[in-house]
Amino acid sequence: MSQKTWDVIVIGGGPAGSTAAATLRQAGRTVLVLEKSKFPRFHIGESLLPYNREIFDELGVWPKIQAAGFMVKRGAQFWMGDGSRHTRMDFSKGSFTEFPESLQVERAKFDDILLRHAEELGAEVREEALVTEHRVEKDRVTVKFRAKDGEEHEVQAAFLMDASGLGNFTANKENLREYYPGHKKISIFGHYSGVQMTTGEEKGDILIVRRENSWFWMIPLADDKVSVGLVLDQAQFKAFKKTPQEVFDEAVLKTRTVHERMINAQPITQGHVLTDFSYTNRALVSDRIVRVGDAAGFIDPVFSSGVMLAMTTGRNGAQVVHAAIAAGKTRTFAMKRYEWATRRHVSRFWQFIERFYTKHFAQIFFQPTNKFRLLCAINCALAGRTRMTFGAKWRLRLFFTLVWIQKYHPIAKPIRIR
Ligand SMILES: Cc1cc2nc3c(=O)[nH]c(=O)nc-3n(C[C@H](O)[C@H](O)[C@H](O)COP(=O)(O)OP(=O)(O)OC[C@H]3O[C@@H](n4cnc5c(N)ncnc54)[C@H](O)[C@@H]3O)c2cc1C
Repeated sequence: MSQKTWDVIVIGGGPAGSTAAATLRQAGRTVLVLEKSKFPRFHIGESLLPYNREIFDELGVWPKIQAAGFMVKRGAQFWMGDGSRHTRMDFSKGSFTEFPESLQVERAKFDDILLRHAEELGAEVREEALVTEHRVEKDRVTVKFRAKDGEEHEVQAAFLMDASGLGNFTANKENLREYYPGHKKISIFGHYSGVQMTTGEEKGDILIVRRENSWFWMIPLADDKVSVGLVLDQAQFKAFKKTPQEVFDEAVLKTRTVHERMINAQPITQGHVLTDFSYTNRALVSDRIVRVGDAAGFIDPVFSSGVMLAMTTGRNGAQVVHAAIAAGKTRTFAMKRYEWATRRHVSRFWQFIERFYTKHFAQIFFQPTNKFRLLCAINCALAGRTRMTFGAKWRLRLFFTLVWIQKYHPIAKPIRIR
């Protein structure tokens, strides 16, 4: 290691940590990234949103991502399990959306590109370095980590950025985690060949398949490689008293939309299981600490928001840290503003997520109308836009009002969710 004191130490080299490190380097800060794995490493979360592109451009990493040849994603399709209805968000048709497409990525490769880019910009990256302790002192923050050879090290910085993902390192130590009630889910997933996905203009679309209390994702990663995952309540999973793969296979069989596409599917990898509990931390900032990505909070991945939120918070968090160091402060008003803005952005997705599992939402969402350009506004929110125009904002409000009315006085045709 070249030195023992940095401007900023970043825990975690995922999209949030790499974006934070690259942004800090662009601002001229010295940065140490401590990452417990050896990259490239497998990670779930493969479907990106159009507004990721804005940050790729800012970081200057877009040419490398483009050269990697990831699958282009032009839309998101939401299907009923029995195939009776579906709706497609075409990102190029959102009049409030600036970016017409996105990507489906193998995270091992994608995360490695981002981390190497941060390194090329001058961040010091230490892999196989497990952070075990942190201590905030008056004039610095001290971090302890264990290297691959088992040796313990102690390093210091003016600020710590926690990008430890679901490990939620600093917030767990301070007992800050709060779960969203009713959102304790489990995900069972694998990669498959021989899956029949959409073609032509719709090639590359993600398919989200709604079941009664659960859903499938189908993400085409390459011409013959599709990520397929099932998300269901943890309590429901336990009640089945079956192995994860048995639950997954049975759900495929019972879900026409998925089954028909998977008749000739062969597993490349399967049986991966992850708990998928939506949570927020009571504080995203504290003295000398800023939390970003999943270490700030995690929400159900049904709208593929994770990586976009990770990179947005990574960038925004790094900007306020840079300014705080420049001002010689341990906590600033801008850090608090970062927290508010992050909560606002997350809540925009959350209002879709918490209603997604209700019948009245499905009845409006699966029978969409573009009257008043409502679909365009939904498109724009689900594409990940942060700076919503007034036009998009009132349309979204109108959409959720219609969903609310549907609950008490049905205005859309009833549809069955099987
Ligand atoms: C089932 C499921 C499906 C998902 N699908 C999608 C999707 O389709 N699209 C999408 O955008 N998002 C999706 N997500 C969410 C997405 O995976 C995350 O939001 C995203 O990876 C967050 O990035 P991050 O950098 O915050 O964390 P991570 O990518 O998890 O990176 C955190 C890093 O920190 C390291 N680390 C942790 N603890 C320590 C420590 N103590 N010391 C050193 N290093 C440490 C880890 O090794 C890891 O590399 C999904 C999530 C789940 C659970």
